[in-house]
Amino acid sequence: MSFLVRKPDTRGTGIHGVSADVHSGPVLIYSCDMNKLAEACERIAATTKKLEKTGIVAEYLKSRTIAEAAVSAVFLSGRAFPAWEETTLQVGGRSLWRVVAELAGKDEGELTASYRRHGDLGAVAAEVLPEQADSGLGVAEVFERFREIAGARGPAAKTALVRDLLARTTPLEAKYVVKIMTGDLRIGLKESLVEEAIARAFGVTAIEVQRANMLLGDIGATLRLAAEGRLAEARMRMFHPLGFMLASPVESAEEGLSYFAEAEVEDKYDGIRAQAHVSGGEVKLFSRTRDEITESFPELPDALAGLAQDAILDGEIVAWEVNDAEPEMSEKKAVNLGRARPFSVLQQRLGRKKVSQRMLREIPVAYLVFDILYAGGEFLMDRPLSERAKILDELLAAGRKITHHRDTESQRKTGKTGTQGKLAFGDEEEIVTAHIIRAPTFRAASPEQMEELFVAAQARGNEGLMIKDLNSPYTPGKRGKAWLKMKRELATLDVVVTAVEYGHGKRIGVLSDYTFAVWDRDRLVNIGKAYSGLTDAEITEMTAWFLEHTIEDQGFRRVVEPKIVLEVAFNNMMLSDRHESGYALRFPRIVRLRPDKSADEADTIQRVREIYEGQTE
Ligand code: AMP
Repeated sequence: MSFLVRKPDTRGTGIHGVSADVHSGPVLIYSCDMNKLAEACERIAATTKKLEKTGIVAEYLKSRTIAEAAVSAVFLSGRAFPAWEETTLQVGGRSLWRVVAELAGKDEGELTASYRRHGDLGAVAAEVLPEQADSGLGVAEVFERFREIAGARGPAAKTALVRDLLARTTPLEAKYVVKIMTGDLRIGLKESLVEEAIARAFGVTAIEVQRANMLLGDIGATLRLAAEGRLAEARMRMFHPLGFMLASPVESAEEGLSYFAEAEVEDKYDGIRAQAHVSGGEVKLFSRTRDEITESFPELPDALAGLAQDAILDGEIVAWEVNDAEPEMSEKKAVNLGRARPFSVLQQRLGRKKVSQRMLREIPVAYLVFDILYAGGEFLMDRPLSERAKILDELLAAGRKITHHRDTESQRKTGKTGTQGKLAFGDEEEIVTAHIIRAPTFRAASPEQMEELFVAAQARGNEGLMIKDLNSPYTPGKRGKAWLKMKRELATLDVVVTAVEYGHGKRIGVLSDYTFAVWDRDRLVNIGKAYSGLTDAEITEMTAWFLEHTIEDQGFRRVVEPKIVLEVAFNNMMLSDRHESGYALRFPRIVRLRPDKSADEADTIQRVREIYEGQTE
C-alpha cells in the first residue's frame, strides 16, 4: 500500500543527518561505541523512573564526542534517521526475521519460541545470535550502513546489507540495531525524554531544546547546537515538515466547554491533514506522517503559490463538491460554494503519483486551512490562536483572487449555512473548483449553542466539531486539551492490527479478520477482533501487505508487524478476560483504515478506561 512504503530519499546531508546550515562539515570519527549505546539502552530499559532514564541518557551523551552523541540521540529516539527526513529503511520484519534465523543457524520453530517469550525481534536476535568478540562498530558507522540499506534497490540488495551488518554485531548490539531498524526501541524512552537528557547533559533548558528540535525536526542537529551553546540559532526550515498539533476527544458539548473560557469552533472535516509549505513560489504538502503528498494534489500548489507571503499552513484536504443548486454568480462569475464529500471519495485520490485529468475533474479537492505556523519570516506558533487566526484571515484575503461569500454575517456566526465557507482564492477561470478555503470559524458560549453547531456540521456531512482554545499556542506533536474533537461516533478507537486471519465465504482466500490492540505504556494489548468493514479492494491490498509483513505464520492466523492503524466503532464496552487488555468491545466494526496515523498514535488503555467509565449503560 503506497502510504506504508515511503520512497528512499537522497536528501541526506552527511553522515550524521545533520543539515548543512547547522553543522559545519562532516566529522567522521569511528569508535567502538555501538556497544556503549546498547549497554546504556539496557540500563534505561531496567528502570521505570523517568528521571533515572534521562540521567543515564545524559551521562551517556556527555561521555561521547559530539558527533557520536548526535547520532546516538537520533537512535535513542527510536529512529534510524532524523525525523524530518522521509528516508526509511524499507526492510520488512519478515526479511529481518530471516536474516536473524540464518545468522543464528536456527529454524523457524526455535525462533518462534524465542519470539513468543520476548515479543520483540531485537530481543530474539540478542538471544539467538552467536557470541562474538568486540565488533568494533561505532554508531556513526551503523548510521552509514543504514543509509546504504535505505539507498539499496530491491529486497535482495537490502537483505544482503542487513546480513553484513548483523554478522558483525555482538548479540547485544544486534538487539538495538534490530530495534532501531523496526522503529521501536521499547525501552520506555520517548523523544521528549531524550530532549530532557540533552538539556541536562549540556546545561540548557528543556524548553530551549524542544523548541530547536521542533524547528529542525532533527534531534541530532539539536544536540550539536546545544553542545555548542547555539540553540538560539535554530531556524524554521521551510520544506521540513513540523509536527502537527493534535486534539483530545470529548464526549459531550458540556465537556467541550469545560476546559477553557474562549472557544473557537470549526467543523471537523473528514479528509486528510496536510501542512503546506509555501516559499518563493515553491509549494510542498506534507501528511501527518510527514510524507510529502504534493504530487497527489496537483491542483493545490498552483493555488497556494499565489500567497502574498511565504508561509506554513495547517489544514485538511477534502474531496470537494461544488454546490451548484444555487450558484453564486458574482461579477467575476466565480462559483465558490460547496461542501466536503465523504472520506471514501477522497480515498480514491490518495497515494497516487499520477492524477488523471478525469480524477481531477470528478474528484476535485479543496484545502480547508485552519491554522498558520509561519508567515513572512515570522514564527507564529507561540502566538495565541486568536492572533494566528487573524493573520491567516489577512494572508488568505490578500491572495490573488478573492471571491465573496454570500452567507449573511449572522448565518456565518451561528454556522447555520449549508455552505462550508468561501473560496479564499483560486483560479477564476476554473469556476467549479474551490481550491484554498479558509475553514469557517464559529463561537459557542453554551452547550446548547455547541449542540446546534454540531448538528449543523453533521448536516453539512462533516464528522463533528473541533473546539479550540483561542488563547492557546500551536504545540506541534502534542495531544493536549487546547484542541478538542467532538465526533459523530461518540466512541471510536484508533487501534493497531496485531494479527490477521483468513475470512470465510467469499473472503476465504483473503486476510479479512483483524485482531487489534491499544497501547498499555510500551506494550500493545489486544482488545478486540473485527470482521472486515473494509471494501474488497482495501482487503486485497491489506492482504498483500500482511503477507509481506508477517512475523509469525500460524497457518490459519498470522501475527503481523504492528503498523496498520484502524478506526473501530462499537456499541459499548465490557470488562472481559477474553483479551489481554481486560476489556472487550461489543459489535466492533472497522470504520476505516487510518493510513495517516502511525502505530504510536493509536489509542491507549487509559482512553479505553475513560470510555468504559463514561458509558451510561
Ligand atoms: P482524529 O483524526 O479523529 O484524531 O481527529 C483529529 C483530526 O481531525 C486532525 O488531525 C485533522 O486531520 C482533522 N480535522 C478536521 N477538521 C479539522 C479542524 N477544523 N481543525 C483541526 N483538525 C481537523
